[in-house]
Amino acid sequence: MKVFYDKDADMSLLRDQQVAVIGYGSQGHAHALNLKDSGINVVVGLREGGESWQKAASAGLEVTTMEKAAAAADLVILLIPDETIGRVYREVIEPAMREGTTLAFAHGFNIHYGQVIPRKDLDVVMIAPKAPGHTVRATYREGGGVPGLIAVAQDKSGRARDVALAYATAIGCGRSGVIETNFREETETDLFGEQAVLCGGTVELIKAGFDTLVEAGYAPEMAYFECLHELKLIVDLIYEGGIGTMNYGISNNAEFGEYLTGPRIVTHDTRAAMKAVLESIQTGEYAKSFILESQAGGPTLQSRRRLTAAHPIEVVGAKLRDMMPWIRKAALVDKARN
Ligand code: NAP
Ligand code: MG
Repeated sequence: MKVFYDKDADMSLLRDQQVAVIGYGSQGHAHALNLKDSGINVVVGLREGGESWQKAASAGLEVTTMEKAAAAADLVILLIPDETIGRVYREVIEPAMREGTTLAFAHGFNIHYGQVIPRKDLDVVMIAPKAPGHTVRATYREGGGVPGLIAVAQDKSGRARDVALAYATAIGCGRSGVIETNFREETETDLFGEQAVLCGGTVELIKAGFDTLVEAGYAPEMAYFECLHELKLIVDLIYEGGIGTMNYGISNNAEFGEYLTGPRIVTHDTRAAMKAVLESIQTGEYAKSFILESQAGGPTLQSRRRLTAAHPIEVVGAKLRDMMPWIRKAALVDKARN
């Protein structure tokens, strides 16, 4: 598999272009600020009266309505929630975009599951950084970049891929490595990764470990440090040098326990469940439930956010983190700004 780096990209393709970043949330703020710092002309397109308008303007970015931004742009990237993209594209973006320009996404969901049927004269590409938006920005500021994926769904101009690679480089991904994929592969692997391992799997593992200790009568503070706080320290070692480096850094006792107990926790049943999860992503079953959830006004999202906030691990965690001010000093998320 070929991995592209800064040297493989032609950033001049974007130099005299106008880029419209639609949305200023997790990904939007990171793309807009990284593009600007890379010398690209960027305008942020937002809905009037929304919270983001002030945030983007305070960061020194040019802000206008979504319609005006799209009308003036050579490349429009849609960085608003996936469940809003179909309607916003149809009602605001498509009627405004000039002929022969580029429509971009940071995730393949809406194209792959047929929620956006793009106009035929447009190039359609994806630039998907493999990190939360706040990390995309923080890593760029440190002089690094997060890995990224690019893909092309429509290539009217014949240079869609080169433009996507230039964009990926401008937001920092070329420092780390850019892989070319397609909309299907990105969508299905991204959804699977976040559901089975990164978000769904990890959060349930943390809560199950915490609950087991607390229900057995151990102090919630102890359970928090064991099952949540230390997870980062372990993942930092794995991130730096792989599983071998982590095993080198932990005790033989911990390493033996890993081999003996890991497969008792993530069992054949867990692997079978992962296969079923992947199938529901491949067949569109998951996509359908997410789309219906949003059409219903997000009842599951709202209820589960409330229940999670009330879980003892969040309550005790907030108190313990207050005693570790260095965590806040290095915070990636500042809800007032991004
Ligand atoms: P997000 O933070 O939830 O987006 C928030 C932004 O969208 C705000 O600027 C908000 O404006 C605007 N917005 C919300 N609803 C809107 C509507 N109905 N009409 C117009 N604007 C609206 O989104 P995100 O998590 O960055 O995701 C953006 C895209 O990146 C998605 O395709 C996602 O799959 C992809 N992606 C995200 C991540 C990540 O780290 N989050 C990682 C990889 C890929 P107001 O302030 O006006 O409400
Ligand atoms: Mg995702």
